[in-house]
Amino acid sequence: MVIIMANMMNTEKTSLIPSWQQELQSAFTNINDLLCFLNLNIDDLSLHTEAAKDFPLLVTKSYAQRIKKSDWGDPLLRQILPDPSELLTNPDYLNDPVGDSQASVLPGLLHKYYGRILLVSTGACAIHCRYCFRREFPYTDNSANRSQLDSIKQYLIEHPEVTEVILSGGDPLTLSDTRLQHLFDLFEQLPQIERIRIHSRIPIVLPSRISKKLLEILSSTNKKVIMVIHANHPNELDDSVSNTLFAIKKAGLTLLNQTVLLRGINDNAKTLTKLSHRLFHCDTLPYYLHVLDKVNGAMHFDTEMEHVFDVYQHLQKKLPGYLVPKLVREEAGKPYKTLLSTNINFP
Ligand SMILES: *Cc1c(COP(=O)(O)O)cnc(C)c1O
Ligand code: SF4
Repeated sequence: MVIIMANMMNTEKTSLIPSWQQELQSAFTNINDLLCFLNLNIDDLSLHTEAAKDFPLLVTKSYAQRIKKSDWGDPLLRQILPDPSELLTNPDYLNDPVGDSQASVLPGLLHKYYGRILLVSTGACAIHCRYCFRREFPYTDNSANRSQLDSIKQYLIEHPEVTEVILSGGDPLTLSDTRLQHLFDLFEQLPQIERIRIHSRIPIVLPSRISKKLLEILSSTNKKVIMVIHANHPNELDDSVSNTLFAIKKAGLTLLNQTVLLRGINDNAKTLTKLSHRLFHCDTLPYYLHVLDKVNGAMHFDTEMEHVFDVYQHLQKKLPGYLVPKLVREEAGKPYKTLLSTNINFP
């Protein structure tokens, strides 16, 4: 696996580097620096360092500031700190648990579900989440670069039933404004495309990226634009994030959130109820609650299904229906994400 960090890409012709790119360049990549910043001490970092070897630590200052100091158990810290448990292997945990490679129709283009196409527009992210199901994804062979835009356009023309394009990655908002504009220009040429969806964790982890210029690009199309953000814990949604989400909403986008259920981080009804309330306050509706994809290195985040259903039933009792995310699991080869029902699927 090759990790391309965003700060090595996106080189604009102008010498003026946007402030968000500067912020990305100064993100924490060294475990020791991060632990010092958080007033945490450890004598032996060797296993943590070993765990970070293939999937390095990457966390923005903005996100790191929301981590409670001197607290190893902090739910935001646990999402990003390389952990010795990642070195454990188990035959049930795979490199491509959701069958992305079998859904790949062109480099960087996944066509798995009817009417929607997913464009892996970059391998770069602004943060590395330890549970990520794409942590083993072969990005260098499989992300769509500029020279492939023509073949993507041709593919869409040959598949007129596709009405929605999903920009994913990596994180599509690590792309420069120019690259995003090119993509939007391409979709503008295709009347069949009604909706453009952006899956991004950037509004949470690098709010400064959501500049006025970016919002102009995202709202300068006649298509409906949806942004699916990714927050797992209410502590992620501080004022800098809520102000960013208000601005996105004001620009006319629809805001949804997806969450991954993570053991010891958010696998309890109290945290998830608070998350839904907080999201709605930020103009964002809960969309999916994903059961962890069984990816290599993330076994320690997995939850027992019995516990998952128990937590979910509590959520249903505590929240208005529109604040209950759909509980889903991604399964290789299925025509849609598998909806898990507390009644039917209970083991
Ligand atoms: C999740 C996913 C989608 C989008 O599915 P929705 O249920 O519409 O959110 C599309 N393509 C791929 C490959 C996906 O993994
Ligand atoms: S979960 Fe999203 S933001 Fe986090 S590493 Fe994976 S693709 Fe990147």
